[in-house]
Amino acid sequence: MSPQVPSTPSPAPVQRIAVLGATGSIGTSALDVIARHPARLRASVLAAGRQVDALVALCASHRPEHAVIADSQLYPRLRDGLRDAGLSTQAHAGDEALDVLVGGDGCDTVVAAIVGATGLASTLAAARAGKRLLLANKESLVLAGDLLMQAARSSGATVIPIDSEHNAIFQCLPAQRDDQALRRIVLTASGGPFRGRSRASLADVTPEQAIAHPKWSMGPKISVDSATLMNKGLEVIEAHHLFGLPRSRIEVLVHPQSLVHSLVDFIDGSTLAQLGLPDMRTALAVGFAWPRRIASGVALLDLAVHGRLDFEQPDLDAFPCLALAFGALEAGGSAPAVLNAANEVAVSAFLQRRIAFLSIAEVVEAALARVDDTDGSLDGLLAADAQARRDADQAVVRLAHRG
Ligand code: NDP
Ligand code: MG
Repeated sequence: MSPQVPSTPSPAPVQRIAVLGATGSIGTSALDVIARHPARLRASVLAAGRQVDALVALCASHRPEHAVIADSQLYPRLRDGLRDAGLSTQAHAGDEALDVLVGGDGCDTVVAAIVGATGLASTLAAARAGKRLLLANKESLVLAGDLLMQAARSSGATVIPIDSEHNAIFQCLPAQRDDQALRRIVLTASGGPFRGRSRASLADVTPEQAIAHPKWSMGPKISVDSATLMNKGLEVIEAHHLFGLPRSRIEVLVHPQSLVHSLVDFIDGSTLAQLGLPDMRTALAVGFAWPRRIASGVALLDLAVHGRLDFEQPDLDAFPCLALAFGALEAGGSAPAVLNAANEVAVSAFLQRRIAFLSIAEVVEAALARVDDTDGSLDGLLAADAQARRDADQAVVRLAHRG
């Protein structure tokens, strides 16, 4: 008999990662975590919308095999920029090129961090191709959550929520989930920059005030969503799809310190929570390494320094978008798709100073007044999304005129 040689664990294979929305807030955090682990994480595909020079600069730092710019008119600038920088990264343009790369052999992990419903196609491509899917693009779940989760189940894709609340719940739920043992989940909300203010006092707040989030540094769209609490409404719908729970088992609790990222209540009276400093790199590191843990660059949470954790109920009168989202989830069908599309139009109009802050909810409500039946197909949901955008555009014109 030959002597037993103790086996050394083989090193984990290098994860090849597509970062979609690489120039954005989540994309930047993802690339930061990737760069900390050169032996196990590598960015192989980087994709952005319009910021072509920033994309070239990221390619120079991270040396991916492929770079994709969504706006096809910017293709020559991407190609020439990569060539002039002496990089071997291949240039691509357009949504179809992105979907092919995401579904192909060039990556095994996809960070879905494009903002808005425009991120649906690439997120779906990753789910269908059985990738490890780090899902930040919550709008795609709100628009087509059933289809997306079904696609992931069919292909065996691992979906890891990156939204901090859902990532917290993901960490708190046992691997073998027992639905009888789970009582409810509680999503925490910072309350945004206008927490504690009355509805009337929000009439003339500016985009600058709305995007100045007290705890998180994020892109402009989600920052406005946080100020209206629509972000939490989208997250309730997101949680419904990710964790397969009805609205009645998903609560929202305002927690201004943003240190408790969410909680799970079990039937025996136990509540598990995940805590940490408000920095998305923790969720991304969980996404890359789970069930293992890797360093993320986020400092240790020292509760003695913070001193206190406060909690309060959300104010649905001052922040009606949250109630609209609850209603859309309860209505089902295409209502969440309509809510999401109208909100994207309204937030964009607010950021362009065409409508007032309080009109965001009015635009969404106007679009929700027309929710047609849907067969639940992708085409049906995309049609509802398109119709809602037209209805919301009209509401914006009406409200801009009034203002
Ligand atoms: P940002 O606005 O900072 O970034 C958006 C990114 O999407 C940019 O890289 C942008 O490229 C890219 N993009 C836009 N349109 C396209 C397109 N058609 N094709 C390819 N790329 C496109 O947003 P965030 O990083 O803040 O948010 C991204 C997503 O993550 C959102 O769904 C958000 O809700 C979610 N999320 C974000 C959190 C955060 O902390 N920021 C927390 C939880 C969830 P370019 O700049 O070149 O136009
Ligand atoms: Mg969140």
